[in-house]
Amino acid sequence: MSLSRRDFLKLCGGTAAGISFSQMLVPEVVEALEKAAAGKPPVLWLQGAGCSGCSVSLLNTAHPKIADVLLKIIDLRYHPTIMAAAGELALGAIEETSAAKGKFIIALEGGIPVGADGRYCVIGEKEGKEITIMSALLEAAPKAMAVLAIGTCAAYGGIQAAKPNPTQAVGAQEFFKMKGIKTPVINIPGCPAHPDWIVGTIAHVLLYGIPKLDDLGRPTLFYGSCVHDHCPYRGFYDDETFCKDFNDKEGCRYQLGCKGPDAYCDAWKRGWNGGVNWCVRSATCIACVEPNFWDTESPFYSNE
Ligand code: SF4
Ligand code: SF4
Repeated sequence: MSLSRRDFLKLCGGTAAGISFSQMLVPEVVEALEKAAAGKPPVLWLQGAGCSGCSVSLLNTAHPKIADVLLKIIDLRYHPTIMAAAGELALGAIEETSAAKGKFIIALEGGIPVGADGRYCVIGEKEGKEITIMSALLEAAPKAMAVLAIGTCAAYGGIQAAKPNPTQAVGAQEFFKMKGIKTPVINIPGCPAHPDWIVGTIAHVLLYGIPKLDDLGRPTLFYGSCVHDHCPYRGFYDDETFCKDFNDKEGCRYQLGCKGPDAYCDAWKRGWNGGVNWCVRSATCIACVEPNFWDTESPFYSNE
């Protein structure tokens, strides 16, 4: 089947009839993707400085299941957490894949520490020489078709970039600017990034090319709405009815530190873990999709 971009956007955005908390990548999208994926570019998933939480988030993808993503939709050549190969054999996959200039995609998870010539993040060793995330990117990124910066670490440096940023961690766009690398970067922030945001962006790239991005390099499809403007508790905010503690069933969480007014993402309609819950229902928004949220939005449980 062929799926129009318009229908794809409706399905991914959860605006198709009958979908409220979006069931991302419903069977129609999966089928179109399987066809589109045949002969499509291989993916190198590189991990820099981070906690691997975005890999765990991807492994939680519900529609489609992770086995379908890995076996039918993308041609994943390197992923340090889930690949069977190790050592130089594994690193060889980066070299082999990146030999095909302009024909592969890099999915970057984690920040890039540039201090100490990159030695704060060594990803392997070849012929007795340390390979850092910095050196791996310097080698492979200029040849990639595009880089997906997955999670707030890859997009903006991550928690390790919090002041005083002792390892000098930066995100992909900043790193590319420093090194004069021209490869396009798509930011998919979040701490972690939602699996739908990851798979949906990969799907868009495979089916229709690079999606429309906002001025922070994020697909507007997933990051185009302010959490506060759509929050189910917004009426309480407007009426100035605020929760005093987390046990309060009713009221806006602003006085508990909610940063929804600063955050742009669609968690308010998409939900997490298959749509069973979302950040503000049980806690508060910490604006985890925004640059430098670790410095600019903390303390997380206060808005005073
Ligand atoms: S709970 Fe947060 S996002 Fe929701 S209305 Fe209140 S401040 Fe805004
Ligand atoms: S609602 Fe807030 S905490 Fe939840 S994913 Fe969006 S920015 Fe992050």
